[in-house]
Amino acid sequence: MPREFDFVKASNLFVVGNTGVRIDPEAYCEHGATAAAVFLFGARQRTPESTQRIDTIVPRCVMAELIGTLQAQIRRTDGEAALSQFLDDVDTFAAEADTALEQLHTERRDCCEAGFRTHGREHTCGEAGGQR
Ligand SMILES: [Zn+2]
Repeated sequence: MPREFDFVKASNLFVVGNTGVRIDPEAYCEHGATAAAVFLFGARQRTPESTQRIDTIVPRCVMAELIGTLQAQIRRTDGEAALSQFLDDVDTFAAEADTALEQLHTERRDCCEAGFRTHGREHTCGEAGGQR
């Protein structure tokens, strides 16, 4: 089935300056895949001084559709080289995130909020404190 599009006229855009993402192991889409909690940090165009955080949950199937459609639009609007650069940037950020996530795991900060905030000294997840 071909993709359907609508003409969306934006108004008072929420301008995102930073994002965060985390797989939520308790949220699934109808395909059984985990969803991503996506956090958007920014402000409305008309009130740029009033920064906000918008918390969202995006099923992975919806995320794949979004990213695939974005790739098609980059190719059509800016060309194949621009899409290639974008995909290279994605690979670079993925490698950096892998390294950072491995570091959090080594420091025992990736299991629970207490572990994260106390640098692995205290846990509310059942993980014992102290050094491994
Ligand atoms: Zn923990």
